[in-house]
Amino acid sequence: MLQPEHIGIAVKNLSISVPLFEKLLNSQCYKTETVQSEQVNTAFFKTGQTKIELLESTNTDGVIAKFIDRKGEGIHHIAFEVTDILAEMKRLQEEGFVLLNETPKDGADNKLVCFLHPKGTNGVLIELCQEKTQ
Ligand code: ZN
Repeated sequence: MLQPEHIGIAVKNLSISVPLFEKLLNSQCYKTETVQSEQVNTAFFKTGQTKIELLESTNTDGVIAKFIDRKGEGIHHIAFEVTDILAEMKRLQEEGFVLLNETPKDGADNKLVCFLHPKGTNGVLIELCQEKTQ
């Protein structure tokens, strides 16, 4: 069974959204991190068993900027924690899901990540993530 790890929310401006979510969740942002390869700035909040990850594009043609252009701000992806990302990628591929990256890549928060194409998941972008071991 996959365990939810975090919910990713696309925002236009972290300097507005971080204080907003701090008020909403009654919890301080505990980490901000830029993921250069994904062209995003991220901000994390702990919320019980899961986390909220806010995503702001670092430039106007990044994936988050394009997402907001198409759909506006809002839920961008749901991430599930796995212990063996390669095995899980193989299992899901055999089940007919389409992987957006064939090999795991570096994500925020010390994770290896892989995304599933939302066409095969009722329109929801799914992220698999595995804690890096170093
Ligand atoms: Zn994520």
